[in-house]
Formats: sequence, C-alpha cells, structure tokens
Amino acid sequence: MRKLRIGVIDLVANGPAHALWARLMNANLASIMPQVIGVWCEEAGHSVSYVCYTGFEDLNAALPAETDIVFIGAFSETAQLAYALSALYRQRGTVTVLGGPHARCYPEDSVQYFDYVLGFTDQSIIDDVLRECAPHRPIGLSIAAPRQPLQLPGVRARWRFIKETLDKAPAIKIVPMLASLGCPYTCSFCIDSTVDYQPLDTNQLRDDLRFLLTKFRQPHVAWHDPNFGVRFDETLGAIEDAVPPGRIDFIAESSLSLLSEDRLPRLKRNGFKAVLPGIESWYSLGNKTKSGRVVGMDKVRQVADHVNMVLSYIPYMQTNFVLGLDTDEGPEPFELTKRFVDLAPGAFPGYSLLSAFGRAAPLNLDLKRAGRVLPFPHHFLNNNLAMNVKPKNYEWGPFYDQVIDLTRHSFSWRSVARRFKATRATIPRWMNVVRAVSSEGNGRIQYHSAVRKLLDTDATVHRYFDGETDVLPSFYADRMRHDLGPFMELLPEGGARHDPNAYLRAEAAAPKPADGLTPVQARRARARAAAAATAAALHPAAPAPIPQS
Ligand code: SF4
Repeated sequence: MRKLRIGVIDLVANGPAHALWARLMNANLASIMPQVIGVWCEEAGHSVSYVCYTGFEDLNAALPAETDIVFIGAFSETAQLAYALSALYRQRGTVTVLGGPHARCYPEDSVQYFDYVLGFTDQSIIDDVLRECAPHRPIGLSIAAPRQPLQLPGVRARWRFIKETLDKAPAIKIVPMLASLGCPYTCSFCIDSTVDYQPLDTNQLRDDLRFLLTKFRQPHVAWHDPNFGVRFDETLGAIEDAVPPGRIDFIAESSLSLLSEDRLPRLKRNGFKAVLPGIESWYSLGNKTKSGRVVGMDKVRQVADHVNMVLSYIPYMQTNFVLGLDTDEGPEPFELTKRFVDLAPGAFPGYSLLSAFGRAAPLNLDLKRAGRVLPFPHHFLNNNLAMNVKPKNYEWGPFYDQVIDLTRHSFSWRSVARRFKATRATIPRWMNVVRAVSSEGNGRIQYHSAVRKLLDTDATVHRYFDGETDVLPSFYADRMRHDLGPFMELLPEGGARHDPNAYLRAEAAAPKPADGLTPVQARRARARAAAAATAAALHPAAPAPIPQS
C-alpha cells in the first residue's frame, strides 16, 4: 500500500468561540477516537496531521493541507461544519471519512457528504478504508464493525496528539482516558444504553497512568467512560497499583448508585476531585440514583442527602438533569429541581433539553412514530440551543418559562454565593463561578429568553416548533450563518437540512431479525448484518467472516 498523507480533524467547536469557560475548557474536551485513528494510521505506515478545533484557532490556517484522505470526528452540533469541510477537501481531491457520534446517529444523512461514514470503528475497519481510499459519490459507504474494539491505544500511544491539544489549554490541562466502553444501564434517551459494557485492559491503564506521572507534576485525568466505576474494585485497584495516593487528580461521570458511602473514602484517597452523576428526573430512572421507586419530593430529599454526602469526600460535583421528559408534567418537576438546588447548594446543576439524536437511542423511534421530532439542523443539537422533541405534557411557551425560571434560580447571585460557600476547594469554587457567569449560566438565560420571546412574537418560530412548517426561522438560520462564517458558503446544497425520520424509515425497510430474539440479541444481529454489509462493500470478492457474539 502506498504511503498516504492523512488528516485527522477533531471538531470540538462548531464555529469561533468566545466564552471564558470555552477558553478554559474546550481543549480539554478533545475526543479519544480521533487520536486513536491517528495512532492506527501511523501504525499502518502513513503520515498523519492532526488538529483539534476548539473554536479559538483560525480554522482555515489550521486545517491539514496536502492530504490524500481526511478523517473528521464530529458530534451532531459540529455536523454542518464537518459537511462544509468535507466539501472543501473533496474539491481538493481528498477522500473524506466521518466518524464520531454524528456518524453513528445520522449515517443516512452523512453518506450524502462523505465518502465513508463509520459506525463502531476498529483497527481493521480503518485498515480497510486506507487500503481502498477511494471516492464514493454521490452516496458514501456507511460501514461499521460489529462491536466496539476490545482494546484501544492508550495515553502513551496517543501522547503526541494529546500534547498538541493540551498545549492550547491556558490553565488546567486534562488528559482524556478510558477504562471501559458501553454501560450496563438502559436509560432510554442515551447513546450508550445499547452498547454492551466492556472493561478495557487494566495493564494498559496502569502503564498509561505511570507514563502520565512522568509528563506532569500533578496530572489531571478525565475518564471518558460513559459510566465510570461499574467494575469499581478492579479499576480502583489498577489505579492504586500505579499511582501513589493523591498524585493524579481524576474526574469521572459516574452514576450516584455507584457512588455509595463505602466507596467514597477510597475515591477521595485516590485523588477523585470531580464527579458528574446523572439524576435526570424526579419521576423515573431511580436505579441510577439508588432511589428505587421513591419519586417527587421524597426523591429530592434522598438524592440531596446523597449528593451532600458525596461532596463531603469529593470537592466538585455536577448533577445532570434532562428537562422535558415524558414523565414530567406541570411546574412541579422544575420546582422540585429548584428545591434540590437549595438543598444541595454545592452541586453544579447541568441541564439538558430532551433531544433525539437520530439513531442514538431506542426512545427516538417512539418519538419519531409519534411525530414529535422536529427538523432542527444538527448545528443546534447540543441539548441546549434547540430541543428537537415536542414535549409530551407542555406547550412550548410554558415549557420555556419553566426552563428560564429554573435556570435563573440555579444561577442567581444567591445560588452562586451558596455554591461558592458550600464548595471547599479553591479551584472548584471559582470554576463554579466562571461557569455561572459564562455560557452555561447567564449565556443560557439570555438565549432561552430570546427563544421564549420569539415564541410570542414570531409566527415562523411558533409554527416551526409546532411542526407546521419545516422552514427554519431566521433566528436560527442567521445564527448558523454567523457561527460557520466563510464555511457556510462551502456547505453543500441541502446540507443544513436533514430528514428527522430517516432512522424510522430505515428501520421499517430493514429485514427483521428472527422472531423470539431478546432486544440484546436483535441488536447484535443487526450489528452483525451491518458488519456483513461492510465486508461486502469493502471486499466484494471475498467477504470477511462475520464475527459471532
Ligand atoms: S447510566 Fe448514564 S451512560 Fe449509562 S445508559 Fe444511563 S445515561 Fe447512559
């Protein structure tokens, strides 16, 4: 195989960023998979130029030049920028590949703009793409491995990409690591709810942590596991083998049910400084918070006690909520969250508007069948700029009133001061203040208030939200144009729109797995079918054997 010039682009931002929080944190939000792909490409003997776009670079100048093939990693909110970049590279004769959550969620849309669209990706998929490296136009190849890889290149192997990105972080530098993939929980709105839980090799984890101790005086590590600590003793044991207590600061997303009191002293001893559990709802998903069937105010008290207990061991905590779930009705869920903010003042509340990301979650099929998914461009799908699911139990105006009221309460000076006082460590204290006065607090209040006003004053907005028209209101079109700047001109015809029901149509047309399969067996059967299609597309003469699960 000839030596290829390969570009790898990780899109953290969908346009120029300005907020202070983004300045501090965006370089710490780089994804692991683009770095992994960079490693695999180099292992195959090719030369790799890598860029993580954080919103603070001159993107035109930062883009890898002189490439035979470019891999772009994108979340849905960066999809329009990714499509524009693909068009730019195709004009230059480069083959383009899309990976990341957007590729998994919206393959039907993405194949219109890329030569290859990757679902689950392992090294053999990358090797196949590099070996072929051919344009597929007008419709690209959608390809996938049957499951997540069993092992990924670790920090030592990814170091040059990690360093290049963290050099852009002005203050705290946080290294992304993984101890596991998938999640054993089944939250119906979550992309990881259908990915089998799988721990990664603890020997590599030990080696990576020891390696990091040679690179920083006090390293910071963010575990990118969807749910850290499912195999608690095994993972903590590996950390304890490699790291003297307190020599590395750790951040992890972990369910409250995993953060039980008997485990917290061990987490504290081992340098866990921040945890981000999902609470999601006061009426459902009790297994995640260990609150079982307790709901309403009783759940608020129980979870607040639990959160305060966690905060007595771990200095920083973000508690995540989904707003607009079907179990919510009237002002009560919002009032309960306000009570929670008061009862657990040290926790930073993170709010997400219920969103349906294409194929991400099983729930999305039901929402599409019910005609509740709106065609907001992907650019706005970041759980906050737009809610693309019509709420079941709210009209839009009253819903936004509640969202604004809750956000104001959570980031009022009173709440900010109480959070400051309830947080003992200096850096977490000030991080909370910066977040509140930056994009996540004040920024969201202003944005949601602007949308709320338009719902009253701009019929095009109201009709779009009610699904009566798919003509994007100028408020959103102007914002997208502003964010994309000169790249808007490169966005291919139709690239700002998508069919929100493509997944539903594809499911309806797909051959059904044999009757009598459990949902997990059916999912695996579909993954095997996708892998077989991949093998047939890339090796038409000799299809690869289909792995059995
Ligand atoms: S516990 Fe978290 S990661 Fe796991 S399925 Fe639920 S939301 Fe997703």
